[in-house]
Amino acid sequence: MARYTGPVCRLCRREGMKLFLKGDRCYTKKCAIEKGRATPGQHGQSRKKVTEYGTQLREKQKTKRIYGMQEGQFKLTFNRAERQKGVVGENFLMLLERRLDNVVFRLGFANSRKEARQLVRHNHYTLNGHKANIPSMTVKPGDVIAVKAKSKESPKFKEIKELAAGKTIPSWLELDAEGMVGRVVALPNRDSIDIPVQEHLIVELYSR
Ligand code: SF4
Repeated sequence: MARYTGPVCRLCRREGMKLFLKGDRCYTKKCAIEKGRATPGQHGQSRKKVTEYGTQLREKQKTKRIYGMQEGQFKLTFNRAERQKGVVGENFLMLLERRLDNVVFRLGFANSRKEARQLVRHNHYTLNGHKANIPSMTVKPGDVIAVKAKSKESPKFKEIKELAAGKTIPSWLELDAEGMVGRVVALPNRDSIDIPVQEHLIVELYSR
């Protein structure tokens, strides 16, 4: 399936909630959800009756959109979660959180996951001192993610550094904001993932 290239805020409007897809704009009054913009489409307002399948589908779509993934890779990650020990839904969220692009975003080294993915692809970070330009790489405790020295000097990263100053990072990550270096100190757990998702609905959907 092709990557969605339409208006990003439309995705939030479709889910009826803020998915924080546009970086800092999402925290301003310019946000379409803050403005109370309706569900898109001619019959957006009248979409009232939701089936069980519909609820499960929306939860999956919402999660996919938050992490900016396409169906194929999303499902592959789910399959990987199924093969792990423990609760499938939680395993799944942990794997999504541990993606390199998400970690870059969580550390404040990019303003949104979409931007993080693009900057990772453009080779602006290192993982344990080595080149890391694959957004789907999975990080583990002990890994060190850093902004490349050359990139730190660019106006883009100077701006990112300023914006990142007030951001809170999750407890499973550690940050040297001045040096723009982050470390994974533990595996994430369900409580440390603040996205509004009921992962069991995704498990139910894929189990149909
Ligand atoms: Fe969603 Fe951000 Fe657009 Fe608001 S500004 S609708 S949170 S993408």
